[in-house]
Amino acid sequence: SSIVAIVGRPNVGKSTFFNRLIQRREAIVDAVSGVTRDRHYGKSDWNGREFSLIDTGGYVKGSDDVFEAEIDKQVVLAIEEADAIIFMVNVEDGVTGMDEDVARLLRKVTKPVFLVVNKVDNGKREEDAVEFYNLGLGEYHTIASINGSGTGDLLDDLVKALPEEEEEEVEEDAIPRFAVVGRPNAGKSSFINALIGEERYIVTDIAGTTRDAIDTKYNRFGFEFNLVDTAGIRKKSKVKEDLEFYSVMRSVRAIEHADVCLLVVDATRTFDGQIQNIFWLAQRNRKGIVVLINKWDLVEKDHKSTNEYEKHIKKQLEPFTDVPIIFISALTKQRIFKAIETAVEVYNNRTKRIKTSELNETLLPIIDNYPPPAYKGKFVKIKYIMQLPTPQPQFAFFCNLPQYVREGYKRYLENKLRELYDFKGVPISVYMRKK
Ligand code: GDP
Repeated sequence: SSIVAIVGRPNVGKSTFFNRLIQRREAIVDAVSGVTRDRHYGKSDWNGREFSLIDTGGYVKGSDDVFEAEIDKQVVLAIEEADAIIFMVNVEDGVTGMDEDVARLLRKVTKPVFLVVNKVDNGKREEDAVEFYNLGLGEYHTIASINGSGTGDLLDDLVKALPEEEEEEVEEDAIPRFAVVGRPNAGKSSFINALIGEERYIVTDIAGTTRDAIDTKYNRFGFEFNLVDTAGIRKKSKVKEDLEFYSVMRSVRAIEHADVCLLVVDATRTFDGQIQNIFWLAQRNRKGIVVLINKWDLVEKDHKSTNEYEKHIKKQLEPFTDVPIIFISALTKQRIFKAIETAVEVYNNRTKRIKTSELNETLLPIIDNYPPPAYKGKFVKIKYIMQLPTPQPQFAFFCNLPQYVREGYKRYLENKLRELYDFKGVPISVYMRKK
């Protein structure tokens, strides 16, 4: 989907606006996973058009006394990466020097830019907003992100300006698309180089298919796959990858265009929130995931180190822990074949289709044995189960009172599905439907 970046000085109201737009959807996700994280990336939609939203401000540490240079960098990166830019200013502060700097950068841009004047909640402020014409960005929108007024008109114009969606091919025998993602210096390029070894394995080089991620088709180890390479492009880019949100933006695109994400983790560094965020991105986009613990050659080992390390990683990945973890070394090429083999397995798990008759035969007795607990005195009767014809596994459980089935029970069903059919590395969805 298209990427919309929100830029602007600290404290103009970017994150309030961001939260308002993603709230409806993300609230559900948080309720399911039971975790709330500090998020600067989310999905939103308007008039049936979905887009990804990035709050660039969220990636600046100590946002209050941020340096101008830092903001400029964000804007430059947003210009490079996003499909549309929302430039937010605050009517209370009037036009500031920093606003002018940002505007100067944005005036050269051919991508759609929306100047949004925030905190306009009365007629007087509507008049004050006129001052922002001076930024030379033309027409502006006024909003009050605290109560949402003005947001609808802004979103109408925004989605109209987004580029046409590329048709997502869902060919039957499509070749798996693997995205290599992770933090800077985790070893993504090294892994890709080790994997490919020699140029002759490249079948076709279809650069530009996904606009900025290089999509290359390989035939290696007896498998055919497309690699969505984020590291390679970044190395060619003028801009240095010193901002976390830059790698997040790269990851967003790569992940959205992949079937399976290979998350490369540096074994010599701590598994931190940034890695969790990338993992979460893949999970949120319902992509297959394989975790590659790289630089394993550098780790002092005794007989229990892999086990302990794996336990530690799984703890960080909760609640979605049914994920393969492979210990590799891009340097010594240790287990890089295993990594690809596992990615192919995850791909197969993700494209698996289970017949309705089989699902019902295996699951209905299990449900009979342990039915959904009664809720407010109501009994739920699950009648039949179906896998939906979607690109990723989704299961609909048809029942009399879908609203009375609680999360805990849905998780129980998900676990049963995982035990029975092996969905390792694949986020699956369980829905209750009215029948
Ligand atoms: P990227 O930013 O994720 O593409 O990371 P690079 O592939 O550029 O790797 C960052 C650094 O880690 C480089 O100096 C690599 O030589 C080193 N490196 C990558 N993989 C390994 C590995 O498996 N073992 C060791 N010892 N070093 C590695």
